[in-house]
Amino acid sequence: MDRPKSLLRGQRCRPRQERSAAGAGNRFALKISLAYSLAGGLWILLSDGMISTLVSDPLRLRTIQTGKGWVFVLISSFLLFFIIRYYRKILYRNEEYFNEMVRGVSSATGDTFFNLLVQSLGDALNADYVLIGELFGEERESVRTVAVYARGRDMENLSFPLAGTPCERVIAEGLCSFEEGVRQKFPLDHIAAEMGVESYVGVPLFDASGRVIGPMAVMGRKPLENIVLAEKMLLVFAVRAAAELERARSEKTIQYMAFYDPLTGLPNGRLFNDRLSQILANAERTKRFPAVMFIDLDRFKNINDTLGHVAGDELLKAVAERLASVLRKEDTVARLGGDEFLVLLPDIRVAEDGASIAAKLIDAMKPSFSINGIELHVALSIGIAIFPFDGDCPDSLLKNADTALNRAKELGRNNYQFYLSEMNERSLHRLGMESMLRKALERGEFLLHFQPQYTLYDQKVIGFEALVRWQHPEKGMISPGEFIPLAEETGLIGPIGEWVLRTACHQNKAWQNAGFEPKRMAVNISARQFYRQDMVGLVKQILSETGLEPCWLELEITESLIMQDVEEAIHKLTKIREIGVQIAIDDFGTGYSSLSYLQRFPVDTLKIDRSFVRDLTGSVDGSAIVDAVIALAHSLKLKVVAEGVETDEQMNLLRIKDCDRVQGFLLSKPQPVDRLARFLSRPHRLQKENSNPIPEDNLVKKINQR
Ligand code: C2E
Ligand code: MG
Ligand code: MG
Repeated sequence: MDRPKSLLRGQRCRPRQERSAAGAGNRFALKISLAYSLAGGLWILLSDGMISTLVSDPLRLRTIQTGKGWVFVLISSFLLFFIIRYYRKILYRNEEYFNEMVRGVSSATGDTFFNLLVQSLGDALNADYVLIGELFGEERESVRTVAVYARGRDMENLSFPLAGTPCERVIAEGLCSFEEGVRQKFPLDHIAAEMGVESYVGVPLFDASGRVIGPMAVMGRKPLENIVLAEKMLLVFAVRAAAELERARSEKTIQYMAFYDPLTGLPNGRLFNDRLSQILANAERTKRFPAVMFIDLDRFKNINDTLGHVAGDELLKAVAERLASVLRKEDTVARLGGDEFLVLLPDIRVAEDGASIAAKLIDAMKPSFSINGIELHVALSIGIAIFPFDGDCPDSLLKNADTALNRAKELGRNNYQFYLSEMNERSLHRLGMESMLRKALERGEFLLHFQPQYTLYDQKVIGFEALVRWQHPEKGMISPGEFIPLAEETGLIGPIGEWVLRTACHQNKAWQNAGFEPKRMAVNISARQFYRQDMVGLVKQILSETGLEPCWLELEITESLIMQDVEEAIHKLTKIREIGVQIAIDDFGTGYSSLSYLQRFPVDTLKIDRSFVRDLTGSVDGSAIVDAVIALAHSLKLKVVAEGVETDEQMNLLRIKDCDRVQGFLLSKPQPVDRLARFLSRPHRLQKENSNPIPEDNLVKKINQR
């Protein structure tokens, strides 16, 4: 369907009788001339014969002959005059039409242009129908008109399948004319049959790249008066019509992109906001209760990271379809971005309506999704806010629905929550915490505790894990579980994490400088810190600043951190390991990492999460998991650390299972720096904490003060 070399290429497709259409004018002129010659000849023969029988006087005869000649010339002149005048009038009229069309059409754009063009073509060509259409459908198998003209009546735009119509021929071959017999030639064209089309002239419209984008055609219920003129006019206006059609299409695309999500085809946040504003504007007057739902797919990120973005996108599309299928036509479901969706219910009578719709949405996700042959399960968390109780403007409704969503997530996901003002209080509390956290670093309110790690084999302290604490002036000691997530969300984890890393390295080096046996220092690194910061540069800088050898530093990262961006994580971890720093996977077993990835990760140690250690003595499953992790680690030549060892029984079992190292309250809780001397000064025998109070080590105290 590329642009033909000449727009007239299509003339080749014209049927035989149409090919002589241009010569029809010649034949007509020839016929008139013949008729005139015949009439003239007869006139001369008859009149000469009659006159010579009636008049015998040669002088009179000559006078009459001369007079007759004059009469003939006079009549011929009159005839010539009328014919020339008639054709000049037609020519003039066509020229006028043409000028008028060009004038009208050239100043108009968009729908006005198309409507004016079909109207003008209809008038100028005395046609019954004119249409300008664009191709649509996946295979571009249908035509949708952008303007139609029907003489003497209004006609709505229409769409029809291309197959079996003269337009199909136009699209495939270029200009086509059928002076008559269209219905017989195209028996499948029901619309042409309904409209009683007999005669047809059409041209293709091309876009800038030479692709056919639609047809433009004039049609008559009787043979069109002037097929040649119709062809010419269509050819002349096709270029402009095509340009206008293309412009209208790109305008539509731009508009679509501005208001719709290209992946799912759902409205985007902007359109959602528009609709919400409109509904709220009328809600009070009409006594309606619109509700807004904020929806988030639970753990979608894991699916995206594990199966890739293409599968993730497929899943989002399928989820969007299911969401839309549950809702009514008047509801709006929009995609805000990522795995976040919004629903607008224009009117719920009671809160239970909102609850039942939310439950339906959650239920709709229960059947698994089949993406690239893999069965995936998706769950939703939903937050609901209702006008006017939970907000009287779009912003506050959305904000509160979001707060409710967070609550739904906190409550274990896969559920829905209504907004409660108490949540607002929680948000305010968080805001207060956030501002305090910002100041904590400047005020030096953070400190590190260190928990020793032991070898199971020879019962030696081989290192420490640095655990941050917040010494709040009023609230006392705050554990990292309470402020690390907030620090991550707000980005404060960057400076806090840097402080932890620097202080831990500094402390370790200080112990070495003080003559203690070197030990490894493990430092926890959170995901945001890992991806946002130049981790490799920071580690190098801190090591050179503190003078600590890289082999005495270990970074603890979690599985979920790696799964956020596997390739990036592998890249950064490899670089860090190249420096000589060790890498441990913390809380192993709680994330969702695929085991096949594990051999690609540049790691040295797996830390079995304490939940599995806790279950070790209680359940067969717990014991089996620990067995599996130890076997897996050893087969990959990794060391295993069991976290959270609290009892002798756990300790003995871990020894039997050939675990390498242990860490837990049984041996020592995390300690402030000034209580660590006993773990440093001499090789330590396994003993319970506080079994033998140890005097504070003045040297360590001094280091800490530095
Ligand atoms: P984690 O890295 O898994 O650290 C171990 C946690 O388990 C510590 O809690 C420790 O006190 C606790 N623990 C150790 N042995 C036992 C035991 O026998 N029984 C019980 N019940 N708990 C035990 P903590 O200090 O509250 O830290 C909690 C989490 O906060 C850490 O888990 C880590 O993920 C994070 N965290 C701590 N410090 C930092 C830090 O400096 N940076 C970052 N990004 N995260 C940190
Ligand atoms: Mg840790
Ligand atoms: Mg851990």
